[in-house]
Amino acid sequence: DTLRILLIIIAIAYPLTLVVATGGGAFLAGRALSPIDRLTGVARRITAEDLHQRIDLDLPNDEVGRLARTFNDMIARLDDSFSKQRQFTADASHELRTPLTAIKGQTEVALQRDRDVESYKQVLQNVNTQVDRMIRMSGSLLTLARADAGQIPIASEPVNLATIVTDAVEQMSIAAEAKSIEIKIAPGPSVRTFADEDLLLQLMLNLLDNAIKYTPQYGLVRVGWSAVGGAVDVSVSDTGPGIGPEHLPRIFDRFYRADTARSSPNGGAGLGLSISRWIAEAHGGSIKAQSANGSGTTFVVHLPAFK
Ligand code: ADP
Repeated sequence: DTLRILLIIIAIAYPLTLVVATGGGAFLAGRALSPIDRLTGVARRITAEDLHQRIDLDLPNDEVGRLARTFNDMIARLDDSFSKQRQFTADASHELRTPLTAIKGQTEVALQRDRDVESYKQVLQNVNTQVDRMIRMSGSLLTLARADAGQIPIASEPVNLATIVTDAVEQMSIAAEAKSIEIKIAPGPSVRTFADEDLLLQLMLNLLDNAIKYTPQYGLVRVGWSAVGGAVDVSVSDTGPGIGPEHLPRIFDRFYRADTARSSPNGGAGLGLSISRWIAEAHGGSIKAQSANGSGTTFVVHLPAFK
């Protein structure tokens, strides 16, 4: 009798336990995995045009919660980089349109009726200036695009800093003379750095070009360097109008120009300092600007060095 009762109990209890365990397991697994389902849903809805979607973060700090947070962070980074790219394309198109509109306007006016040779020459000169501007801009855009894609090989050879500075100053001397600006080199210690000579020269030329461009006639540009521990600080300072504190944090952004430059006829496209920053960082260094409105600007490039 006892055995029979036991058999009946086992016959009922076993399947019942199995059903309860399976149901409970399925319920718990469903609850645990439902955030993953939400994650999948959001991932499916996300397209490049709609990167604002996020998973609501009312989740405990367990594996799934951490996965959801990591996913949200990744989408935020993608969102940021896509909007930067969109902004970049919009700015680039705008910048290229400006000289094209100028060319179109001038040639159309010139072609409206017959003119003397001098007038045609003048138009051609203006067109030439605008084309030069576009060539410079496309060159800068290409450099930045290749830099972003990691396609610019960076040589690492011992470079004497004094040589680079002297070369750059020499190359800019004509532009400086045209504005009666004096460039003074304050020689620092004999320092060498492992660098790509061409890129470093380009960085110095960018800084000197800006210093000359934005400093009024009869101004002074100083170039010098000093060794700090295992690094070297190269500085380029000018007696120009300076950069206001509201602009200073943004001057290294692509296409950013402070107002003073916008009103200047020879202001560039706002790409020179972005390229300069990339060059400094590609060498394991950094670049910063110090300035106050009306009291000149100093750019300091910090580079690893060896004596
Ligand atoms: P741009 O081609 O316009 O010179 P940059 O990227 O070289 O572009 O510089 C960005 C902006 O920073 C300039 O438009 C200008 O407003 C400001 N700037 C750079 N260098 C100087 C300087 N030495 N003095 C004053 N403003 C400067």
